[in-house]
Amino acid sequence: MATNGYEGGLKMIEELTTNAEQIQDQELGEILSRNAGTEYLRGFLHGQTEKQLFKKHVPIVTYEDLKPYIDRIANGETSDILVAEPVTGFYLSSGTSGGQPKLIPVTAEYLKKGPLVGTFSESPTMRHFGDINQAGKRMELMFARPEIETPSGLKAATFSTRMYSESKFRTNLPKLYTSPIETIFCPDPNQGLYCQLLFGLIQRDEVVKVGSLFASTVLRGIKFLENHWQELCYDIKTGRLSDWITDSGCRNAASLIMKPNPEQADLIESICNYKSWEGIIRKLWTKARYIGCICTGAMRQYTTELEFYCRGLPLVSAFYACSETFCGLNLEPLCKPYDISYTLLPNMAYFEFLPVKNERDESFEMKSNDEDTELVDLVNVKVGQCYELVVSTCAGLYRYKVGDVLMVSGFYNNAPQFQFLERKNVIPSVDHEKTSETDLFKAVTEAKALLDPLGFILAEYTSYVDTSSAPGHYVLFWEIKGKEGKHCKELDPKIMVECCSRMEESLHYTYKIYRKRSIIAALEIRVVKQGSFEALMDYFVSKGTSLSQYKKPNCIKSEEALKLLDSRVMGKYFSPKSPL
Ligand code: AMP
Repeated sequence: MATNGYEGGLKMIEELTTNAEQIQDQELGEILSRNAGTEYLRGFLHGQTEKQLFKKHVPIVTYEDLKPYIDRIANGETSDILVAEPVTGFYLSSGTSGGQPKLIPVTAEYLKKGPLVGTFSESPTMRHFGDINQAGKRMELMFARPEIETPSGLKAATFSTRMYSESKFRTNLPKLYTSPIETIFCPDPNQGLYCQLLFGLIQRDEVVKVGSLFASTVLRGIKFLENHWQELCYDIKTGRLSDWITDSGCRNAASLIMKPNPEQADLIESICNYKSWEGIIRKLWTKARYIGCICTGAMRQYTTELEFYCRGLPLVSAFYACSETFCGLNLEPLCKPYDISYTLLPNMAYFEFLPVKNERDESFEMKSNDEDTELVDLVNVKVGQCYELVVSTCAGLYRYKVGDVLMVSGFYNNAPQFQFLERKNVIPSVDHEKTSETDLFKAVTEAKALLDPLGFILAEYTSYVDTSSAPGHYVLFWEIKGKEGKHCKELDPKIMVECCSRMEESLHYTYKIYRKRSIIAALEIRVVKQGSFEALMDYFVSKGTSLSQYKKPNCIKSEEALKLLDSRVMGKYFSPKSPL
């Protein structure tokens, strides 16, 4: 994109945000005029297309409500039971936080939005870092998953796989990225990752951006590098690819790029040989201007560790998107991960907002049933209020709850800006108490502060509710890392017990009351071996999750995943007393 290209993008953002209300009305008008005759909408609107009728009669739904229609299309019925335009395929949502991957219908009209996003999504970032397309290459970790075919012969793939398959992406790849296409489509993600790191290191002098879609994948890359840098250096020195890389695509790609380069290998070796890996990304890729990856929501738990590895390089979380629709952009790419807001783009879908109780707003009264709570339009949301995002799209989703909770932080022109708070309902409870992703994150943040002065970092965590004995209790799995060569075996068990107490003290009032009344038993932390969460990621990837779109579950629900973590437990600690 030429300089005036991103300036053009910024101009477009100005126009979209200024005219948010009209554009939203237009979006809904088009969705209804095209689709009012579908079996689904006919049931509620009887062919009418007025906004008021839509708001009054079309129910707020979840994926489960639409699934029977989507499954019928996947099984060969005509698309117009749900959407007038033919469904040309499906996106597979990652599904790691909520359960099984969902099938999200895709149509030609939906696909038109993609290039539209491409024209402006990077503009705010380029305003700060310059036109990186002209400056050099991106070392981005990217992983495609094989497509699957539905019984009707329609293809289903993750959003990222679709993106990597596009001819424009493939054409631009050699100029803009360090990773050859074969490494992205390599069926074995570990071989793909090894090669992507290898090619990123070989071309390190050209790299101006390091990243991946999500923060967890960047960290996975660094951990992989920690375990493989000697081997990578050997390959760079000799110009020969390790034998365990058996994928023929990767080997062919390597044969075109690799030649012996002992000087480069020695340089990389001397950097990686440092005892501390603080700032390693900056040291290895000296021309990198920023790290690009989503680091809000479930990813915020990785920011401390990522900041350690990139020391001083800005972390840029550029956009907020889901398979259902692209949602918004971060217009202030330099702001700290905790302050990031996304401005919703009114031309992507018709957005509505279901008010959700916010800790700060004691007066807020939630109706017992979503049907009774009125949805708020994009331009009418209130600053400080939390909402669940509800979308209607041109591809057959009507008043569909995405499952994300957002808080309004302000407005840019007439378009609201949102902080991503959490996924809804991903944390189960022992006895109907509601512990959210945010509650858990806050409590973990308080407790892990005890480790920091002792030279330890909490690298990963997840939770589980153990109801195998009564009363049930919360279990936290923690993977702890020692700074500068310290081993977590040196951790004093008393500190871990204190961490349990601190977590309980930091949880919400209902939890504490339930603990006091012995409705919930003492919270437990199970410390797991190094690499346990990588094994968890491998497990989910082996089950079909894309490594590019992987989001670690914040609460374990799968028996197999639980077994995997339990088999790596090194120590169990319990809170000694009730927090009240
Ligand atoms: P998927 O449909 O599998 O791509 O996952 C989409 C989900 O990823 C969203 O519904 C969010 O929960 C999460 N997500 C995407 N972008 C962001 C972001 N910028 N910040 C926080 N969470 C995000």
